Amino acid sequence: MPQRILVTGGAGFLGSHLCEALLDKGHEVICLDNFFTGQKKNVVHLLSNPYFELIRHDVTMPFFIEADEIYNLACPASPVHYQYNGIKTIKTSVMGAINMLGLAKRIQAKVLQASTSEVYGDPEVHPQPENYWGHVNPIGPRACYDEGKRCAEALFVNYHRQNNVRIKIARIFNTYGPRMHPNDGRVVSNFIVQALKGDDITIYGDGEQTRSFCYVDDLIRGLISLMESPDSFTGPVNIGNPTEFSMKELATMVLNLTGSKSKVVFLPAPEDDPQQRQPDITLVGEKLGWKPLVVPDEGLKKTIEYFRKLLSK
Ligand code: NAD
Ligand code: UDP
Repeated sequence: MPQRILVTGGAGFLGSHLCEALLDKGHEVICLDNFFTGQKKNVVHLLSNPYFELIRHDVTMPFFIEADEIYNLACPASPVHYQYNGIKTIKTSVMGAINMLGLAKRIQAKVLQASTSEVYGDPEVHPQPENYWGHVNPIGPRACYDEGKRCAEALFVNYHRQNNVRIKIARIFNTYGPRMHPNDGRVVSNFIVQALKGDDITIYGDGEQTRSFCYVDDLIRGLISLMESPDSFTGPVNIGNPTEFSMKELATMVLNLTGSKSKVVFLPAPEDDPQQRQPDITLVGEKLGWKPLVVPDEGLKKTIEYFRKLLSK
């Protein structure tokens, strides 16, 4: 049945793909964004759809609307952006969660939180299952994001326990694809843009640190399937692609796929940079029958094509 769905952070990278996928499924979508890291450009192609609405609003301020479901994605996601104004990042995560949970309680909507693998910090358990409590520095440069997201998870479970709000918590692992912001400093967009421009590929640290990258289409399918799952399944649940590689390996893959002659340079490692990250996706497989389908080569090729077109404009 068509639902009216609110997507906060809907003009961002993941949010814009989510709005598109929900409209394709026949739903009515209200996209709320303050355009801090998102862009109107990401959703401009949806504006002619009568079932799509775009609202400029900041989630730290209360917001009232009638909706059946809320996807709470509003929050800068790249380390460069979330560290730019750490206080605002914490407010966005915490007050944004309070405002969306309050709204969900009032209108009896189901609400999904875009949480993150960063709740595991620099993990000492590998791969990371949902029952791992994490290894987070509460006063480091990443704390504004990590602790903000951890507090948001705590708010979600408490609204569920105390007020029976129907919640879903997705712990999203590194996701990439078209509409990543070319300057947001995340590794996939950085390497691809550098390779296409012939600039140096910047590896931070020794490049042995690992990540596991999920293609955006797989991730969005996972989020929707979580929202549609029975109310008894609240999560938190990991959603990500367990194929793990080092940043050195990623640089080589990007160079090969772009045919670029860029040189690789090594720069100092950022403080508290997690050394390894891989989702344990047993739970999401059991509960939702979800698994990633797009292999890195295929996803990277699509992302490279996107940036090639963007840079040629
Ligand atoms: P993004 O920066 O492209 O999108 C975030 C969106 O939120 C932007 O459109 C931004 O303008 C908006 N926003 C930020 N602060 C806001 C505020 N106060 N009020 C209203 N809107 C605000 O990032 P993304 O990669 O699309 O991430 C979306 C969500 O998924 C975030 O919550 C992020 O923490 C989470 N996540 C993403 C990844 C990933 O790899 N992409 C991994 C883990 C978690
Ligand atoms: N990284 C890098 N070069 C870059 C950007 C990032 O080597 O130009 C590294 C970064 O230090 C980290 C990994 O790539 O180890 C992933 O960084 P990203 O910012 O994409 O995401 P996160 O650290 O939040 O997983």
